[in-house]
Amino acid sequence: MRPYIREKKDFTFDEVPENTSFEAGYLTTVNSGWRSIRPVIDTAKCVGCEQCYLYCPDGVISIRDRKAEIDYDFCKGCGICAKICKIKAIEMEAERK
Ligand code: SF4
Ligand code: SF4
Repeated sequence: MRPYIREKKDFTFDEVPENTSFEAGYLTTVNSGWRSIRPVIDTAKCVGCEQCYLYCPDGVISIRDRKAEIDYDFCKGCGICAKICKIKAIEMEAERK
């Protein structure tokens, strides 16, 4: 099942925006505490394919040295990144208070 991919189009990475229209934090303040689960990346598994980076609706994932990183200040805990990662390098875990 490919729930988030409606159709496959060829594109180059030059055509993909580097981020969302607004940087994280431009319109919102840091996570207010209602997130109940958070994505945790197993960096040993991550191959830097950038799928989570491309699909995160909040633009809070960056790729550094071919590894994904999450800005927890703004992550909403939606779980899309975990769903889209084909090699299951992201697990959703209970929020740590
Ligand atoms: S989708 Fe998975 S393997 Fe790809 S960059 Fe994200 S965490 Fe890494
Ligand atoms: S849980 Fe949602 S908001 Fe948080 S990093 Fe993953 S896709 Fe982005």
